[in-house]
Amino acid sequence: MLSPSRGAIAPVRITRIVAAPLFGESPKGGWSTEIKAEDSIHALIAVHTDAGVTGYGSCFTDGRLVEAAIKVLEPFWNGENALEPERVSEKMHQNTFWMGRGGSLTHAISGIDIALWDIFGKVTGLSIGRLIGGRHQDRVMPYCSLLMDEPERMGDEIAVYREQGFRAFKIGWGPFGRRNDTKLDEAIVRAAKDALPSGGRLMVDAGASDAYWPNGLKWALRAADMLADHDVEWFEEAVKPDALEDFITLRKNSRIPISGGEVLTRRQSFIPFITQGAFDIVQPDVTKVGGLSEQRRIAWLAQDFGVRYVGHGWNTALGIAADLQLATALPNVDLVEYIAGSAYVDNIMSVPFSLDADGMLAIPDAPGLGVDLDRERVARYTPNAGLLFEDD
Ligand SMILES: [Mg+2]
Repeated sequence: MLSPSRGAIAPVRITRIVAAPLFGESPKGGWSTEIKAEDSIHALIAVHTDAGVTGYGSCFTDGRLVEAAIKVLEPFWNGENALEPERVSEKMHQNTFWMGRGGSLTHAISGIDIALWDIFGKVTGLSIGRLIGGRHQDRVMPYCSLLMDEPERMGDEIAVYREQGFRAFKIGWGPFGRRNDTKLDEAIVRAAKDALPSGGRLMVDAGASDAYWPNGLKWALRAADMLADHDVEWFEEAVKPDALEDFITLRKNSRIPISGGEVLTRRQSFIPFITQGAFDIVQPDVTKVGGLSEQRRIAWLAQDFGVRYVGHGWNTALGIAADLQLATALPNVDLVEYIAGSAYVDNIMSVPFSLDADGMLAIPDAPGLGVDLDRERVARYTPNAGLLFEDD
């Protein structure tokens, strides 16, 4: 039995965890079987406590799976101390090893973990960044993530967000690599490049985690060469996500950085990719990988092996808020992903994110995640908004 140390804060007990599936305006993913607006791809999480403090998180998965996972996980969170996020999250991981680790359970634990850190910050009066590492910076550049389109439309689409102040862009998925037409692929990239602001940055995402991705290593090597000729900053998911050896070969032979890792979950899955040289840049998703507790460890492993870390939690405002805290708690984080035009990012907070004159996002330093959901706005996208905010 552990005794409380001097100065310890009284435990804050978890009483209830609820999920709010988001649907109605689910953005397209560029998937070969495309996401429909009414599909639930993301869910918000609220962790309620006996102290009346509620924490919020986000999961990248169907809300029905999140709701089931919360029930399966209940014996491990019910009555737990919300002020010990890493211990409670690890308890959930360790005790569900045989129940689908790495899948929906891990995605659900991600949202719970983010919410626990939010509570810990709110109770201690500190932003999560300060709790998990400190403040390396006060702002970071969001890169605007856009689906690829036909060359004649690609430039216009970039122009919309260029006018909003974004200075870095990533284009991905869509027709790229899917029509057996390398001239088309290059024309899309050229159109995007021509539409960048002066000094703008461009990255390319093949999206090889799409269903039945048709290309292999030789395609990726040729495409990487073409992208290098256009000064593309990185080439993402250029081979299938589990093709470790191909990633290693591609990285050795590519003139531009190779990135990936958004579909990997659990810190253990990243070990071979980071230690064997598969990535120049690793992109874990905080809303899938196990939350802030897990992502912090992956990012540090990457740092120790000279691999850059860029977060992929772009799917809701809370995912981005979590990525912002990681972007200050770790050294050398120069970008966060920011999906363009998603209601679940732009329309659910009391004060939406806004870019400064340099195209940067301020990293909140208010307690916890440092952002507030807006009850009425959230209610547009889920029937469970009442359950999320019950204690507020
Ligand atoms: Mg991607």
